[in-house]
Amino acid sequence: MARTGGAGAGGVSAFIVERATPGLSVGKSDRKMGQRGAHTADVIFENCRVPAENLIGEREGQGFKTAMKVLDKGRLTIAAACVGSATRMLGDTLRYTRERKQFGQPIGEFQLVAALLADSQAELYAARSMVQDAARRRDAGEDVSLHASCCKLFASEMCGRIADRCVQAHGGAGYISDYAIERFYRDVRLFRIFEGTSQIQQVIIGRGLARSGELIQG
Ligand SMILES: Cc1cc2nc3c(=O)[nH]c(=O)nc-3n(C[C@H](O)[C@H](O)[C@H](O)COP(=O)(O)OP(=O)(O)OC[C@H]3O[C@@H](n4cnc5c(N)ncnc54)[C@H](O)[C@@H]3O)c2cc1C
Repeated sequence: MARTGGAGAGGVSAFIVERATPGLSVGKSDRKMGQRGAHTADVIFENCRVPAENLIGEREGQGFKTAMKVLDKGRLTIAAACVGSATRMLGDTLRYTRERKQFGQPIGEFQLVAALLADSQAELYAARSMVQDAARRRDAGEDVSLHASCCKLFASEMCGRIADRCVQAHGGAGYISDYAIERFYRDVRLFRIFEGTSQIQQVIIGRGLARSGELIQG
């Protein structure tokens, strides 16, 4: 993305820049809290000249719009990934709490452990239902910007809460990397940050409600 015109979103254009272009370099791989299988790095542009034919969308000033166009789908996709990760974490934890015994009984039979699972199951079901509803609406051609932000906000926060409860239900084992939950706990933290942080989703939803004066219908 580069500013080719004046101030504001209308002055931004999007380009394809080939990796071998003089002036383009890639920084060293980030050392991350999680998602270590997905390599990321800074892409650095220094006096990097890009031919005009590399402009995406043929017209200047469309770059910001182009980026925004993919957001609804991206946010729904992240929300679905949150539902998938939470399903795996809760499934592993259900199995663990049925197998692990303390004081002569499976730990899942202690009411306080069962409550961790119950809250997680209820929230997971809610997030799954939201994502399916919004995805169906998008497939039917509806404008789902606010639905997508609601899904991203709720599903990513839900996923974080479930990761935390699942580590708790594993006890000390949850902190040891022999169990997948230790990795998931780190991996899912990014869901609340990328594709628009939770605060940015709150801003979008709040602004949308203020503008339209109408609630989103389910
Ligand atoms: C490994 C990795 C991969 C990533 N991949 C992607 C990706 O593929 N796609 C993608 O979209 N993003 C991705 N991101 C996220 C992106 O790079 C930014 O980190 C993210 O958009 C937040 O911006 P920032 O880090 O500059 O934080 P800042 O903008 O500095 O925000 C810091 C804090 O301030 C809050 N804040 C900022 N502005 C406002 C505001 N207007 N109102 C209220 N609160 C505000 C934020 O919510 C946050 O809590 C990735 C991040 C990482 C670490």
